Amino acid sequence: MSGLDIPDTVDAAEVTSWSDEFDVVVIGFGIAGGSAAVSAADAGARVLVLERAAEAGGTTSMAGGHFYLGGGTAVQQATGHEDSAEEMYKYLVAVSREPEHDKIRAYCEGSVEHFNWLERLGFRFERSYYPGKVVVPPGTEGLSYTGNEKVWPFCEQAKPAPRGHSVPVPGELGGAAMVIDLLVKRADELGVQVRYETGATNLVVDAGKVVGVAWKHFNETGAIKAKAVIIAAGGFVMNPDMVAKYTPKISEKPFVLGNTYDDGLGIRLGVSAGGVAKHMDQAFMTAPVYPPEILLTGIIVNKLGQRFVAEDSYHSRTSAFVMEQPDSAAFLIVDEAHLQNPEVPLVPLIDGWETVEEMEKALGIPEGNLVATLNRYNENAAKGHDPDFHKQSEYVAAQDKGPWGAFDLSLGKAMYSAFTLGGLATSVDAQVLREDDSVVPGLYAAGACASKLVQDGKGYSSGTQLGEGSFFGRRAGAHAARS
Ligand SMILES: Cc1cc2nc3c(=O)[nH]c(=O)nc-3n(C[C@H](O)[C@H](O)[C@H](O)COP(=O)(O)OP(=O)(O)OC[C@H]3O[C@@H](n4cnc5c(N)ncnc54)[C@H](O)[C@@H]3O)c2cc1C
Repeated sequence: MSGLDIPDTVDAAEVTSWSDEFDVVVIGFGIAGGSAAVSAADAGARVLVLERAAEAGGTTSMAGGHFYLGGGTAVQQATGHEDSAEEMYKYLVAVSREPEHDKIRAYCEGSVEHFNWLERLGFRFERSYYPGKVVVPPGTEGLSYTGNEKVWPFCEQAKPAPRGHSVPVPGELGGAAMVIDLLVKRADELGVQVRYETGATNLVVDAGKVVGVAWKHFNETGAIKAKAVIIAAGGFVMNPDMVAKYTPKISEKPFVLGNTYDDGLGIRLGVSAGGVAKHMDQAFMTAPVYPPEILLTGIIVNKLGQRFVAEDSYHSRTSAFVMEQPDSAAFLIVDEAHLQNPEVPLVPLIDGWETVEEMEKALGIPEGNLVATLNRYNENAAKGHDPDFHKQSEYVAAQDKGPWGAFDLSLGKAMYSAFTLGGLATSVDAQVLREDDSVVPGLYAAGACASKLVQDGKGYSSGTQLGEGSFFGRRAGAHAARS
């Protein structure tokens, strides 16, 4: 058996007895499934969630807790950051490799309401802003920049605003578990049934329409009849066969970000009923070198000694460009005046050298290339600009006071972490779509198993996964309940 296998569908005519009957069955209780279940129940549907693990949370419970929201949220307003749905829309369209305009529009126009809905679950984003360039704010600050809003060319395409809203839990791990606990509580209040240690195994179909789910609980099996099924079963970073086929760089050495059940079964279930998966070759892979942001005054070069990205890019954008370089190798070069240790040691310092020529040789860069690149950068930096990559002037500084140090951003040397971004094509209401864009009746998908608004690491903004997982999870639940 291969991890690429598409499960068979079960013909409804062959189901001799249904174990249960519900209006809406949700597969998986992470941020997307929990939001879908609560919304469907809120709209009056009888809802059952099947959860393969012994408790709710999935990968969501590991997440730091950024939600990408904007358009004038209470935190943006309280901290004096002007934003509008239109500017947010322009930004997300600009960073998306294949923008789905209707979904981006709905997400941006619904963002303030979604922020309010999240807070109504029972927590409050702190009305505070962290101004520095960070991966996650150091404390409980509610707002920071988590994307490329201030990075060229996007800063010219949409008015920059910080949109990374963090739950009030410090640190990089586990903050979003708080939201899962609140969703579990809300689902319980609304009468949602949850069956743990019960995995969906197949979809039940009747003349092309999804009408139920087959399940397994240890040795017991059965089939549940449903008017609608919402797949919210996570991504595929834990499926070695799918990773090898679609995102092979992830198998090279990164630390994978996911839970055991991120095996792509949700995506494969959707495909079994006629859905199509998109952007399966795209992944978020990152090894942030900052903070401290002073390191971004340096230059990042490939093994030929050439620059290839504005160094002030969001970390996942820089990393995505590194992956495209020869051997996915890259070095960050800084002089003594700007060299500090990264606060999180993911990118190792290789060594220091008295001259650029010595450094070039030691790094195996063809003779003269690094010297020429650094000279050009320094000449422009002396004039306060970077005409080659348009790095913002606050990060432009000549690197001319030796000795020089080099950090290794190469895949296999730096510690990259990764998750997958591809998933089932969906409509603005999270209905699963076929290759020809027609809807698979009765079937929805949201979260990591669905296609994303921003489908690659170059455009990725932290918080879009939790943001759109919950947003489109809600739309799936509400639409499924109506139908
Ligand atoms: C360390 C870390 C930090 C992160 N930080 C952020 C962040 O700050 N902001 C952000 O936006 N994103 C972040 N992410 C990414 C984000 O956490 C995920 O993309 C998101 O949580 C996925 O949510 P989901 O609901 O789609 O899937 P999950 O939360 O994984 O939920 C899916 C659920 O489905 C269940 N399941 C799977 N298969 C079946 C089946 N066959 N039957 C029944 N149940 C099944 C699983 O057990 C799981 O509980 C982070 C990820 C990690 C690992």
